[in-house]
Amino acid sequence: MTENSYDYLIVGAGIVGLTVAHELKTRFPAARIGILDKEANAGVHASGRNSGVLHCGIYYGSDTLKAKVCAVGATRMMGFAQEHGIPCSKSGKVIVATSDKELPTVERLLNNAAENGIRAWRIDEKELMEIEPYAARGPAAIYSPDTAVIDSRAVVNRLTVLLEQQGVQFLWRNGFKKIGGPGEIVTDQGKLSYGYLFNCAGAYADVVAKNFGLAEEYALVPFKGIYWKLRPEAEHLVRANIYPVPDIDLPFLGVHLTRVISGDVYVGPTAIPALGRENYGLIEGIRPLEAMEVGYRLAGMYLSNRHNFRHMAHLEISKYLKHNFVAAAQRLLPSITSEDMIPTPKAGIRPQLVNLREGKLEMDYIFQHTEHSTHVLNAISPAFTSSFAFAEMIVNSSKVG
Ligand SMILES: Cc1cc2nc3c(=O)[nH]c(=O)nc-3n(C[C@H](O)[C@H](O)[C@H](O)COP(=O)(O)OP(=O)(O)OC[C@H]3O[C@@H](n4cnc5c(N)ncnc54)[C@H](O)[C@@H]3O)c2cc1C
Repeated sequence: MTENSYDYLIVGAGIVGLTVAHELKTRFPAARIGILDKEANAGVHASGRNSGVLHCGIYYGSDTLKAKVCAVGATRMMGFAQEHGIPCSKSGKVIVATSDKELPTVERLLNNAAENGIRAWRIDEKELMEIEPYAARGPAAIYSPDTAVIDSRAVVNRLTVLLEQQGVQFLWRNGFKKIGGPGEIVTDQGKLSYGYLFNCAGAYADVVAKNFGLAEEYALVPFKGIYWKLRPEAEHLVRANIYPVPDIDLPFLGVHLTRVISGDVYVGPTAIPALGRENYGLIEGIRPLEAMEVGYRLAGMYLSNRHNFRHMAHLEISKYLKHNFVAAAQRLLPSITSEDMIPTPKAGIRPQLVNLREGKLEMDYIFQHTEHSTHVLNAISPAFTSSFAFAEMIVNSSKVG
């Protein structure tokens, strides 16, 4: 075997690529494993830019892949945190209904919890006030005691060091460009060969997969999550996590309040249609060709109005204006004022796939395979929470599993 050849080659050093490497190293300790990433270190994109919440799994129907790996993944992630001294706290969360229209969804979430074996229950106003004294009072509320917060960057950094110590080779600034031949790829820095390849390239996973003749029916629509923060004088308004009842037909949870592991309270994220896979600022990260392609797709979704896209897009884009963002936060925390919210540079992009044949947003994880490769598509939330169990599922689904 030459220096540039690997038994297993993984594209992408986000949490999915790292946990797949961890899973492979556990199963095949002697294997030569390489991870390539176009960046200079791990977790530069979604895995280092998320809310840091370990979800309990209440949002997902029992027939979904998400439901199968979310709760078990959270438990494994908490175990990893404990073993490696990574800050993590099972602080719990409330989901607050603010209108009668949300009651059927409340029932559906409780039903998911029952079917998925998750601890979550309805609480009355008095109990809500004991858990989150400043939360909005509405017709119903749910308490999830097992929701946790974690330092997601610390997880990524620790896993990277651990894998390096175990002999996994990281190939930084080594972006996948195209297929070179059977069992061979071309990167920014030359050619690499492999026995089996795992595509875990996050927002670019569809692009990489298309090189293998896969993912033809999918296109990526990036949704940007921006956050505000509570000023220190207002942080006492939130003890842990306050979430709205989500629109169950969309893969987003709605603006929420999270006391992250550092103690800061973040408000967000939005789900603003973005013009690029790395369009983190207003115009930062926009590449003209990609922007045209994404803009065309967004225009199509706007015109077809599937998933009530037009209403959602207007609502989300309006959150670029602070007073609209404050209004979304006030639904959950009525006493919050505009002065209580301060800007933060934190922003992430969801690598959301749209199914072009069916014209719908994909809600679940997707795997596709060739004889010698597995492609992880639509690794949207809660892929961070799920990751250790998700990686096991990914490897099991592959030809090497
Ligand atoms: C705003 C926001 C909040 C979220 N909050 C939560 C949360 O609270 N809890 C939760 O569980 N999940 C959350 N998520 C989801 C979660 O962060 C992601 O699902 C998860 O991080 C996806 O991991 P990944 O490894 O697939 O992607 P990434 O972390 O994006 O990693 C993909 C990697 O592939 C690399 N790459 C891309 N193209 C190439 C190429 N051509 N060649 C080589 N390398 C390449 C990239 O540089 C990157 O490092 C959130 C997401 C967002 C955007």
